[in-house]
Amino acid sequence: MPHARKLAVVSKECVACECCMKVCPKGAIVVDRGMKAVLSPARCIGCGKCAAACPAGVITMSQRKDNAQ
Ligand code: SF4
Ligand code: SF4
Repeated sequence: MPHARKLAVVSKECVACECCMKVCPKGAIVVDRGMKAVLSPARCIGCGKCAAACPAGVITMSQRKDNAQ
């Protein structure tokens, strides 16, 4: 898994546009009640597609600190 050491992180400035949710290949990111994108770290493969798609630029890719897949 090439990006297994990366994890997407959503900041509180999320505007709930759902762009990230639509591009995530793993279903790792959902917009909770239209309020904010919420990430499931165990599903995220660190591909960076959500960060590239976010029009508000509020997703950053960080190094994982856990050992989730
Ligand atoms: S980095 Fe990839 S797998 Fe992780 S939440 Fe973003 S689009 Fe989904
Ligand atoms: S693409 Fe960015 S602004 Fe839109 S829901 Fe996802 S994190 Fe929030």
